[in-house]
Amino acid sequence: MSREKKIDRLREIDRQTQTLGSIVQLLSWDQETGMPPAAVGGRSEQLSLLEGMIHDNTAGEEVGELVGELCGDSTPELPPGALLRGAEPDPDSSAFLRTMRREHLRAVRIPRRLVTEFARAQSRGQAAWISAREKDDFAAFLPHLQTLLDLNREKADAVGYEEDRYDALLDEYEPWMKASTVDRVFDEMSGALRSLLDRIMGAPEVDDAFLYTDYPVEQQKLFSRQVAEAIGYDFSRGNISESAHPFTIRPGDDDVRITTRYNPASFKSAIFGTIHETGHALYEQGVDDSLKGSVLGQGTSLGIHESQSRTWENMIGRSSEFWKHFYPGLCELFPENLGGVSRERFVQSVNKVEPSLIRIEADEVTYGLHIILRFRLERELLSGNLPVADLPGAWNDLCEELLGIRPRRDAEGVLQDVHWSMGAIGYFPTYALGNLYGAQFFAALKKEEPDIEKSFGSGNFSKVREWLTGRIYRYGSSRTAGELVHTITGEDLQAKYFADYLETKYTQLYDL
Ligand code: ZN
Repeated sequence: MSREKKIDRLREIDRQTQTLGSIVQLLSWDQETGMPPAAVGGRSEQLSLLEGMIHDNTAGEEVGELVGELCGDSTPELPPGALLRGAEPDPDSSAFLRTMRREHLRAVRIPRRLVTEFARAQSRGQAAWISAREKDDFAAFLPHLQTLLDLNREKADAVGYEEDRYDALLDEYEPWMKASTVDRVFDEMSGALRSLLDRIMGAPEVDDAFLYTDYPVEQQKLFSRQVAEAIGYDFSRGNISESAHPFTIRPGDDDVRITTRYNPASFKSAIFGTIHETGHALYEQGVDDSLKGSVLGQGTSLGIHESQSRTWENMIGRSSEFWKHFYPGLCELFPENLGGVSRERFVQSVNKVEPSLIRIEADEVTYGLHIILRFRLERELLSGNLPVADLPGAWNDLCEELLGIRPRRDAEGVLQDVHWSMGAIGYFPTYALGNLYGAQFFAALKKEEPDIEKSFGSGNFSKVREWLTGRIYRYGSSRTAGELVHTITGEDLQAKYFADYLETKYTQLYDL
């Protein structure tokens, strides 16, 4: 068989795997947005059948042989020049081959027994976590967390790593990233965040009480949709529905859906949640047509994904220029809530900084500290330096050290997040990496287009969207996160761009 024929065969198998994956996405979307509760048993049967088929496809002998013949023992490298700005997404298949090889190796290295044991521990762990959080009872969750931690160690050892066991886990969510890099950028970030936070805490407090009054849900829906459309979400290839936890999902190449949640007592969650998810969706909707149906046809890593949702939510969606355009319309929809509120006060309020215990409610400045807390603790857990039984105390101490406040209950401390109960260790850093990538990309954009923010004030978002599409979105996962950072900014990942962005923004907002 010729090389071309082999690549074609591999593409054919991949297309089938991606189609199975999109069916999984559709079933999951349905499960979260409207499936009758009693259907859960049947649904998990359907999902596990499909997941098994996907695993068998990826780990299959035929893929193994093809990948072996096409790649040999090493990861194919992109040819020189492939990374030049403006180059086509994957003309010579090398990005496709390295990704297929990577997926195949991960799949064959993890034994099927471990896959099923992990899945079982995840569903038990999640159920135990829900009730433990309700009852504020860490001891009830402890044995499950211990099991999930042990299974994660086993998984990391099966996958393999060079320096640090944590790398093997991190790699699942942020391919090719190393814990040592995360250490370096988080250390840079933590000093900057702490010092800015101290200065903000010395400034007069912002009165944002008007944000927490009765905002009719129908108007919230209308406004959320208007904003998503204005910033470029393509409703002919997507829709917005409601779910308990907002997410973006991709049941097909031309089907990228988002969900949001409307809280009548708070305006912030629906609108900023919608902008956040629209940011994820713009990324998926912007992938080049040539990558459709392939493993390369979606976002390259969770961190890069999060960089896009946060760029749209925070750097664009919480900027003064953005609200220059949208605030008059918002006031018309909510005259009773916003009648006496100036745009300046509104912008200040949606950017209010205040240390809080709950990560998902955190502002831009304290958010990174919540992530550092989790990153440090999960590394200690994985290395065995921190016994699971000592975790709640360690959490509370570190929370006090980083944020200056101490949880009184585990429900608002160590039990607040779902991730560890799902066995996801190595996931948390991607949230904060997203902020760093996003700020570094945005700084590069501003170097080329110094007046870009002015375009937001006139409701023109096509310029920024086209730039992001041309540099990031169109490549899907044919470029790794590190390659994107290098080609777009000419540097390694740095925390200083995020620190500079916050410094400029909050010095102005708080008149520091
Ligand atoms: Zn997100």
